[in-house]
Parts: sequence; structure tokens; C-alpha cells
Amino acid sequence: MKEVLTLGEILVEVMAKNIGQTFTKAGEFLGPFPSGAPAIFINQVAKMGVPATMIGCVGKDDFGKVCLTRLEESGVDCRLIETHEDRPTGTAFVTYHQDGNRDFIFNIQHSAASLCRLNGAAITALQNCSVFHIMGSSINTPDMIGLVRRAIALVKEGGGLISFDPNVRKELLHDQTVVGFFNEVLSKTDIFMPSGDELLSLTSTESVESALKALWILGVREVVLKKGQKGCDYYDRNNVISKPSFSVKEVDATGAGDTFGGTFVACRVLGYSPEYSLDLANAAGALAVSAMGPMEGAATESELETFISNWHTQEEVEHV
Ligand code: ATP
Ligand code: MG
Repeated sequence: MKEVLTLGEILVEVMAKNIGQTFTKAGEFLGPFPSGAPAIFINQVAKMGVPATMIGCVGKDDFGKVCLTRLEESGVDCRLIETHEDRPTGTAFVTYHQDGNRDFIFNIQHSAASLCRLNGAAITALQNCSVFHIMGSSINTPDMIGLVRRAIALVKEGGGLISFDPNVRKELLHDQTVVGFFNEVLSKTDIFMPSGDELLSLTSTESVESALKALWILGVREVVLKKGQKGCDYYDRNNVISKPSFSVKEVDATGAGDTFGGTFVACRVLGYSPEYSLDLANAAGALAVSAMGPMEGAATESELETFISNWHTQEEVEHV
């Protein structure tokens, strides 16, 4: 089986313990947890038993060890993750608002996390992968634009597919050229996985119908819209599938979309139907929000199946 590949930020995440806590007052924080949107994604691809490789960089410090150890334990091929001598591993601090919104303080640009490089081995991996996944949160500098543009060309040369999750973080979007570049990425995308209002905002449209029309013209093949606790919608040129979420107690929303995306892409590489892939991805998202820490709810395919069957049994019991 050909591998799924991604590149971008590898971070540790430190999160506020209590909802409503702010960054301006001393409070309790939990972590460090291994994190970084592309790292969360690829960790879940590996958990699904699909060959998974990441291109990235960590610092020569314990935070870097936290990330590498977790990715290796999950089965991610980390040979293209470099360890930088001087720069520290990237970090993200998160607080949660009462309304479910979050604030982040990132240290990506000046950390090892932004030092992605395409060496000879990375170039070969890009030319040979089945799917290359792009996280919008990784594209935050002109250098990253150049790197992702080159990576896309290499993947296309080798006949691989591109999956794209815009994963817009207001804290990382300073540069208008980055916003413009998202359009270029979309025109190369096969599987598009936006969440919330990203479907309309990135296509500059006002309805799902117009957004889909624009995406099919660009050459996109599948669109999966993540809708948090409302589940997800799937679209291709011939089908629309809506799936409710598995309702669970949300402990920590961070990483749900990335875990969902990793599951969906892994399932499609495994040849599963969109319908079944969405069920497993929804289950993966539900397990992700049930655990504190972005990768802590990551699950194997058999764990996802067990979760789904237990969840249905529980539902039946509650409705008797
Ligand atoms: P993030 O960028 O924070 O990782 P996202 O905005 O990309 O997340 P969401 O739509 O929040 O993605 O979540 C992805 C998927 O996870 C949803 O489609 C759903 O399947 C699942 N999920 C999210 N929140 C919940 C919840 N509260 N209960 C059950 N499932 C959830
Ligand atoms: Mg997201």
C-alpha cells in the first residue's frame, strides 16, 4: 500500500484547565501534549494501519521527544522529521471560551516547527505517495508557500492525490498572500475537508450549492464538511451523504477535525466506501473530543468499530 504523507508544524500543546480561563491571568494549564495539526492528522492515519510519513522539524529538547515518541509509538515513519540543534520545539497554548471558541498563542514561526525542508528523501516520498495532505495552518510564511507549491508539483508528477484541510487559525493568518495561496491549493485539491464557514469563505460564495459548483469546476472530487457536534456532510458530483455525530461528552475539542480527516483519508486509501469512511471518521472525531489533549483520543480501526457498536447498544438501551 502506498503511503499518506504530510508536512508542517509539530508542536506541544498546553491547554487551560478551566473554561473561561484567560491568558492574562495566572491559572492552571495541562500539558505538554503532542500536537500540531498535520502531526495529529498523520498520527491517526498510522493508527488506522495505513503507511504514514511526516516531513517536519522538532527542537533538540524534551518537547521534541514528547512528539517524536508519540508519533513513533503510533507507527508514523519519522525519518523525514529533522531535529534542530538551536531552535526549540514549537508550542501552542490554548484557552477555551464559554461559547466553544478558542484562543491560541503559537510559537511556530521562530521555532523548529517552521523549519520544514524538502531533502532528497522527502522529494522521493512526495513523488511516490498515494495522498499528500495539506493543512492550511502550516502555510503561514512566504517560505512555506514556496515549499507547499513545490511539494504539490512533485505529488502530481507521481500521480498522487491532494487532500486539503484549510484549518484556518485567525492567529496565524497575517499575510494576505497566504489567503490568496489557499485558492491555488484548492485548484490542485482532490479531497477538500473544510469545517464551519470555511466552505463558503474559501470559495467566496454564499451557499453550499454555489460553493460546490465552484469546487467541481476547479477539479475537486470529494468535499467533506465537518460540522462539530452536528456531524458531517459529504459531497461528490453524484452523491450527498449527511451523517450525525456520535453524541458524547465533549472534554476537549482541539484536534477533532484533524483526527476526523486522518481517519477519512486513511479509509479512502484502504478502499472503503464514503459512507463507511464517514462513520469511522465521525467516531474518531467523537473519541478525540472525549479526551483531554489533541492526540489522546486517537484510535485504531477496531477500537472505532467497538466504539460504534457500544454507542448503538447504549442508544437502544436508553430508548427502551
Ligand atoms: P479542529 O480544527 O479544532 O481540529 P474542526 O473545526 O476542523 O476541528 P470539527 O467539525 O470541530 O472540526 O470536528 C470534526 C468532527 O469531529 C465532526 O465532524 C464530528 O464528527 C466530530 N465531533 C466534533 N465535535 C464533536 C462533539 N462535541 N461530539 C461528537 N462528535 C464531535
Ligand atoms: Mg480544523
